[in-house]
Parts: sequence; structure tokens; C-alpha cells
Amino acid sequence: MSLSEIQKRIAQAEEKAGRPGGTVELIAVSKVQPNDRVEAVLEQGYRCFGENRVQEAAGKWPAFREHFDDISLHLIGPLQTNKARQAMDLCQAIHSVDRPKLAKTLARLAQERGACPDLFVQVNTGEEEQKAGIMPEEADRFVAECRALDLPVVGLMCIPPVDEEPSLHFALLAKIAERNDLQGLSMGMSGDFEQAIALGATHIRVGSAIFGEREKT
Ligand SMILES: *Cc1c(COP(=O)(O)O)cnc(C)c1O
Repeated sequence: MSLSEIQKRIAQAEEKAGRPGGTVELIAVSKVQPNDRVEAVLEQGYRCFGENRVQEAAGKWPAFREHFDDISLHLIGPLQTNKARQAMDLCQAIHSVDRPKLAKTLARLAQERGACPDLFVQVNTGEEEQKAGIMPEEADRFVAECRALDLPVVGLMCIPPVDEEPSLHFALLAKIAERNDLQGLSMGMSGDFEQAIALGATHIRVGSAIFGEREKT
């Protein structure tokens, strides 16, 4: 697979869903990938990337930014409050806002910095114990709480359970977004991004289909 093939499949999925072309943002998930693979995609002119760990992002993106302009970095993994400032300095978007304590920390830092990345509230649509995300029945209240803190919440994010039909989770996320008047839907990965686009994804997070398999960590 390659970047251009994925872009072609995205365009086809947009068309099939009756959506205007170019409305789905592809986040190229570069976590754990060797630098030469990431650089090859940068060389092709691509600028939108995702990382799931602040530490790892801080270790490689400042150097890439010295050589490539206008990189947009999305944090898609869990965020500890003590890394919030670093995440806000590095990233244009954070997809993993999932608890009041983190929301309050982001709000305080946003005030202090006078700027805040775009935020997505992560919803644990599968209600899995080990997974991050606010529970679906608490999502409305949490979104309201974030808004009361003046946080720029642009949408919702989910990671469906591995052994379940992802479409059910995408549909649930879309429903929660709609009733909260949120436009952004961060959903869909290498194996299911076309289904996500059919159900309204605005941001898809695709790693291995672009860069190849990751080393296991
Ligand atoms: C790693 C990761 C992805 C990308 O997964 P692929 O299956 O490689 O496309 C997407 N979203 C999150 C939150 C991830 O951690």
C-alpha cells in the first residue's frame, strides 16, 4: 500500500457516500515507524501526521519541522495531565480528551498560552474497561463541561473494540456527535476507514496501510 493508493480509496469512499471530494482528512499515523518511512511521505508533500505518545512525538517531530514546513501533528493516544503542556506545544489537535481532570488542565493551560489545539472528546463506545475514553452515557455531560471551560471541542473520537463490527461504533459516535452539535468525527483506521467514511468520518487515522507493519512494542 502507499499514500497515493490510500488517497485514491478515500476519494472513492467519499464519492460512494455522496460526500464532496476532499472533505475527509487523512491523518498518517507515524508512531513507531522508522524515520526513513516517515521522511519518504514528507518528501511526497504530505504534512498531516498522528502520534500516540507525547514522548515519542517530542523525540522526532521538532527535527522534521526544521526541514519541512506546515506540518500538522495530531495526538491520538492517551494524554497524562503532566504532559498536557508539551502536547499543546507540539500538536495542532488532540483526539484523546476523556476526563474532567484533563479538561481542566487543558483549560488552564489554554488561558495561560492564549491558544489551544483543536480538541476531540474520546468516547469509549465499546465500554471496554481497559480502554480510554468517556463512557457513552456520560459523553453529553462531558462535552458540555468542556464547552463551559471554553475549550475548542471540534468533534468526537473512538477506537472500536477489535472483535466487534466497527460500523456499529461509528454510527453510535456519529449519533452522539449530532445531538451535541459537533461536526468532527475522528474514526476509522487501516482496516475500516471506508466504513468510517460511509458513516461520516471527517478525520481518519491510518498507519500501517501507508507505512507498512509496525514493529511490535
Ligand atoms: C495506531 C493507531 C491508529 C492507526 O492504526 P493502523 O491500524 O495502523 O491504521 C489509529 N488510531 C489510533 C488511536 C492508534 O493508536
